[in-house]
Amino acid sequence: MFNIPITKPYLGEEEKQVVSQVIESGWVSQGPKVAEFEERFAEYVGARYAVATTSCTTALHAAIAVSGLGPGDEVIVPSLSFIATANSVVYCNAMPVFADIDPETCNIDVEKIEGAITKKTKAIMPVHQMGLPADLDSIQKIANKYNLIVIEDAACAIGSEYKGKKIGGHGNIACFSFHPRKIITTGEGGMITTDDPDIAARLRRFRHHGMSVSDIERHVANKIIIETYPDLGYNYRMTDIQAAMGLEQVKRLPFIIKMRRQIAGIYDEELSKIPYVRVPQVPTYAFHNYQSYWIELLESAPVDRNMLMSKLLEKGIATRRGIMAIHMEPYYKGYSKLSLPTTEKITMNTVLLPLYPTLSSEEQSYITNSLKEILL
Ligand SMILES: *Cc1c(COP(=O)(O)O)cnc(C)c1O
Repeated sequence: MFNIPITKPYLGEEEKQVVSQVIESGWVSQGPKVAEFEERFAEYVGARYAVATTSCTTALHAAIAVSGLGPGDEVIVPSLSFIATANSVVYCNAMPVFADIDPETCNIDVEKIEGAITKKTKAIMPVHQMGLPADLDSIQKIANKYNLIVIEDAACAIGSEYKGKKIGGHGNIACFSFHPRKIITTGEGGMITTDDPDIAARLRRFRHHGMSVSDIERHVANKIIIETYPDLGYNYRMTDIQAAMGLEQVKRLPFIIKMRRQIAGIYDEELSKIPYVRVPQVPTYAFHNYQSYWIELLESAPVDRNMLMSKLLEKGIATRRGIMAIHMEPYYKGYSKLSLPTTEKITMNTVLLPLYPTLSSEEQSYITNSLKEILL
């Protein structure tokens, strides 16, 4: 009998060893490993600076705050996203304005962005859905026309590419997640990338109580340094224990992404044989890391989405509902002024299937055969 989880982080002996080494070194809080992880990550995505945080949620909060967004400002976001996307806007007392998505990619519908712009709009926050890049050039064109900031929620998009260049390397502030559900993990953790030295410096202060000097600078200094606190900050510091894991995880990225793409390719091939199922389409501009794999169950299917999920669970296959729609959650009642029919349809009819580098071909055949058995 199979017992297949929705995902499994890809960790090994190296992660155990480096964590022990950090513990032996005696410096377990933020220090040299975080600095090294930031450098390596920036290099990997092709950004000038990377700033580590405790999660992608805190990364988004920091990014929005240091961009100067606040009360009275509106930020255009897709409603189809994890709730943290909108929450991070609300933390800054700004207003998330929800725009509908393109059913093909589940990414923000570029045609719908202009309709959501008002005099108060200050930023657009595209989400690279399940790792599939949003159409950054088209979004940038609108941002330029209306003088808006672009902040990318790239929680799921480590290693994905837009027009041959990695997400994080397109000149915007981009925020990544190292939660175990994502491509690589540090337990919890986040990263912000930017090309702007001033933004990078403000992000470093923001995550470190607003303090003018980092712990490591003070530690290595051969004279006393009395710190100052120029702005309001938070404690959003990643630890060296996490960063040591992250450095090993970055080395595994090529393998992880190769395996994910291979497994997704088999799903594409097998599941497109089922007439009641729509499989994801990847635009020619994109290289997809397949952080998640979704299918849409069409109305003609003999079972509904929740029934399909329970039948799979009975067979030992864990699934998850597709991405949530933030505007449908109780806290966000009254927020959205626009109609979001595609978001509502997609959130109700999509399912995420198990996908992780160590999913065996026997397990995957069992999943695709079970889907065929239930649906055909
Ligand atoms: C996972 C996720 C987040 C939150 O990431 P954390 O690191 O868990 O805070 C934010 N946005 C999107 C789109 C996500 O998928």
